[in-house]
Amino acid sequence: MSRLWNRRVASLDPYVPGEQPAALDLLKLNTNELPYGPSPKALAAIRAACDDTLRLYPDPTSMALRQAIAARFDTTADRVFVGNGSDEVLAHAFRGLVRDDAPLLFADVSYGFYPVYCGLFDQPYREIPLRSDFSIDVDDYTGTCGGIAIANPNANTGIALPAEDIERLAVAQPDSTIIVDEAYVDFGAQSAVSLTHRHDNILVVQTVSKSRALAGLRVGYAIGHPDLIEGLTRVKDSFNSYPLDRLAQIGAAAALEDTTWLNEATGRVIETRAQLAASLNDRGFHVLPSCANFILVQHPTHRATDIQQHLRDRHIIVRRLSHPRIQNWLRISIGTNQDSGRLLSALDDFRTF
Ligand SMILES: *Cc1c(COP(=O)(O)O)cnc(C)c1O
Repeated sequence: MSRLWNRRVASLDPYVPGEQPAALDLLKLNTNELPYGPSPKALAAIRAACDDTLRLYPDPTSMALRQAIAARFDTTADRVFVGNGSDEVLAHAFRGLVRDDAPLLFADVSYGFYPVYCGLFDQPYREIPLRSDFSIDVDDYTGTCGGIAIANPNANTGIALPAEDIERLAVAQPDSTIIVDEAYVDFGAQSAVSLTHRHDNILVVQTVSKSRALAGLRVGYAIGHPDLIEGLTRVKDSFNSYPLDRLAQIGAAAALEDTTWLNEATGRVIETRAQLAASLNDRGFHVLPSCANFILVQHPTHRATDIQQHLRDRHIIVRRLSHPRIQNWLRISIGTNQDSGRLLSALDDFRTF
């Protein structure tokens, strides 16, 4: 607290990101990064772009990148918005596409940034409880609202909704923006991108941080009706006209074009996820069905904090979220098969499962 802080900053309750330790011998299974390096084509494009043109500001409209995204999703650049990570895209959507005279609706267990943005923007919100099996029932999202945010697959549970549920929601709430946060969609869920052509109130947000292994580049994007894109652009140009640097624009465009790399990397993660889930089941863990590059697990007798500490002592970090409904669960990012082996053998010398 400082006497120089205003009331708004004093009342903020900021998001706490997963730990990024400097020690490299740690096995990081805590922030859902891919264990594989990004597309070699993306790296080559970034290297080739390191020249004197860095003295110039980048294209404020990120047109080449938006065209690459449009080509990948069979749409046009006027339906694509890009930002400095999907976190920034989500922030602009909360700021510009949600009415602040009614609550924004999102699940009680979901991405922890949603209530944080609401705090920053004085946006009222209402948390809708997940069912007891942690799935979302879209029919619970009724009544007057300023907008709806759905992470699909859901953050921290990994459970996915079929696209038809998103469509039902868009029809039931025609005057609200349905923000579909698809950070993990490439690991086995159905995207709502094609729905954005039929429903002008669906905004799909994706990122290169997870499935493209480019968390360090900070690029996210949104796809939706040109009116939604124009709204986001108005917010962006009232805040930061150049959110994406030259290297990010060029690297992300090359990554988006490399679908062979994407399919191979996500295929490996999906395979490792199935094997790890089965091995943890064998050890008595309850594992939620995940369509993401993490699994949420609980042991019937051992406490999550004890398991987490035991793993940490063996230089493996996994994430425990503070929400009361999942505080006795651990979220484990999917690494390589070798990482799974290291995790399982560390668990095997924790008493006996
Ligand atoms: C990781 C994540 C994001 C943020 O992605 P960035 O593009 O790295 O900002 C957004 N939403 C969810 C649900 C995430 O898990």
